[in-house]
Amino acid sequence: MPYTINIAIPPEAAADTDYLRQAAAQALHLAASDVGVVQLVRRSVDARRGKARLQLQLNVYGSGEQPLDAMPPRFDYRNVAGRPPVIIVGAGPAGLFAALKLLEQGLRPVILERGKNVKERKRDIAKLAHDHIVNPNSSWCFGEGGAGAYSDGKLYTRSSKRGNVAHILQQLVQHGANPDILVDAHPHIGTDRLPGIVANIRQTICSCGGEYHFDTHVTGIAVKNGIAKGVVDERGTRYEGVAVVLATGHSACDVYEMLDEQNLALEPKPFALGVRVEHPQELINEIQYHGKGYSPLLPAATYSLAAQVPGRGVFSFCMCPGGMVVPSATAPGEVVVNGMSGSQRSSPYANAGIVAQVSLADYAPYERFGVLAGLRFRQEVERAMFAAGGAAQSAPAQRLTDFVEGRISSSLGKTSYIPGVTSAPLHALLPAFVSRALRQAFREFGKKMRGYLTAEAMLLAVESRTSSPVRIPRDPQTMQHVRIANLYPCGEGAGYAGGITSSAIDGASCAERIAQQASSILSA
Ligand SMILES: Cc1cc2nc3c(=O)[nH]c(=O)nc-3n(C[C@H](O)[C@H](O)[C@H](O)COP(=O)(O)OP(=O)(O)OC[C@H]3O[C@@H](n4cnc5c(N)ncnc54)[C@H](O)[C@@H]3O)c2cc1C
Repeated sequence: MPYTINIAIPPEAAADTDYLRQAAAQALHLAASDVGVVQLVRRSVDARRGKARLQLQLNVYGSGEQPLDAMPPRFDYRNVAGRPPVIIVGAGPAGLFAALKLLEQGLRPVILERGKNVKERKRDIAKLAHDHIVNPNSSWCFGEGGAGAYSDGKLYTRSSKRGNVAHILQQLVQHGANPDILVDAHPHIGTDRLPGIVANIRQTICSCGGEYHFDTHVTGIAVKNGIAKGVVDERGTRYEGVAVVLATGHSACDVYEMLDEQNLALEPKPFALGVRVEHPQELINEIQYHGKGYSPLLPAATYSLAAQVPGRGVFSFCMCPGGMVVPSATAPGEVVVNGMSGSQRSSPYANAGIVAQVSLADYAPYERFGVLAGLRFRQEVERAMFAAGGAAQSAPAQRLTDFVEGRISSSLGKTSYIPGVTSAPLHALLPAFVSRALRQAFREFGKKMRGYLTAEAMLLAVESRTSSPVRIPRDPQTMQHVRIANLYPCGEGAGYAGGITSSAIDGASCAERIAQQASSILSA
């Protein structure tokens, strides 16, 4: 059995196996010759004080000792040709990991996706960024891979209680992700690598007998006697299965409208709204790594901030070191921003969402829209940002210090946002309660991170797609919709996940429940 130790080392020593063996020997009070294989189990950056170091957890074997197999398990997906079909609406992380789990369980996934395959989708993303054209079915959020495909690919989640995170990461590695994600405390894939992984997952699903239907916009759930039988697309084609997984994400407003029209239960829920802030990455590195003399081998520095201001919490969200701010509108006439980065995180910018909590009481003025009140509130803000940005995908923007002081910026700094920015008084344009909370929180953040509150930082609006303003209620045990049997609301759009990993876990959990349910139906 190996000894497990934790050591802190300078970044320069990370690739030096002799150094690691010596350090392990020292930590265990052994001679270096008594130490055999040293396996990396966990890696993080410790920059709390002094020079930033790498914190490593290592498994250390004695000389001549055979290490346990360090290779991640490979999943043997079953051939499901001819097996009962399960309809999955949406090919985002929730839908794709539901499909992979169904293969393990011997059921046949039939994936219906309104957008294009991950490669073709790229052209529409380019049109959005360069020509300001929003295709309502193919964008940064819609298409194969969902909102996760052209994202940052951060894979950390707070929801490990809900399922097996390692399982998800291992499957990503099996489909082409760098195995480093299995040891990094903050695993990350990058927008340049994600599409290839998504295409490999398709290859697995299709080679096992699963089906994909692109350009297939689902517009109705086929329900008979309180049981979901399948779905209908906008061409009127009907797809039937033993269960329906609804994994359409939280940008698909039309799906919530469809469910509301079909009188299927929905619930309003709190969410969060704010801005994306962009600093020079160099400045964030200097703040987090305590000055200019940090090792060039350290990764682009990250941060995570939270403040409690009167009446609500404000927090940083989806921080993208060395990344870009991207236009993630899903319908013409709205401006929405988000962030992503490549695997190397090498751009000169650091961006993060800074959002304030939005409660049901905050959008009470929209109660005439019933359960869709939060959605209508969100849409109104997104449309106001479109108008303020000049009726294009240019984002309304302001220098951070001007926002906090409540004055319009007479000039704007550089940003990574390709469609461009237009100076606008965000302090007055955002809903007053959001603006007030953000201004107070930014002052707090300036105290927590000296140098953060600077005129060099730019704010772009609006960051409104952090989580869903609507929940599709389901039974916590069966995961089926509270009123419609065999309908499985799933992932971020259903209000049960936030982020790639937790959505993937939710997808896999729904598939497990479907397999349990289907085995009782099929054996009856
Ligand atoms: C730019 C960006 C960067 C992000 N970065 C990160 C990150 O680094 N880490 C992280 O954890 N999260 C990140 N996120 C959030 C993450 O992508 C989402 O939390 C996650 O993708 C949600 O998964 P999902 O499968 O529930 O829904 P989605 O990924 O939204 O997928 C839903 C799918 O359903 C399809 N669909 C919608 N309506 C219909 C319909 N009627 N018929 C057929 N198909 C339909 C859509 O086209 C889409 O493909 C980012 C998001 C964006 C936009």
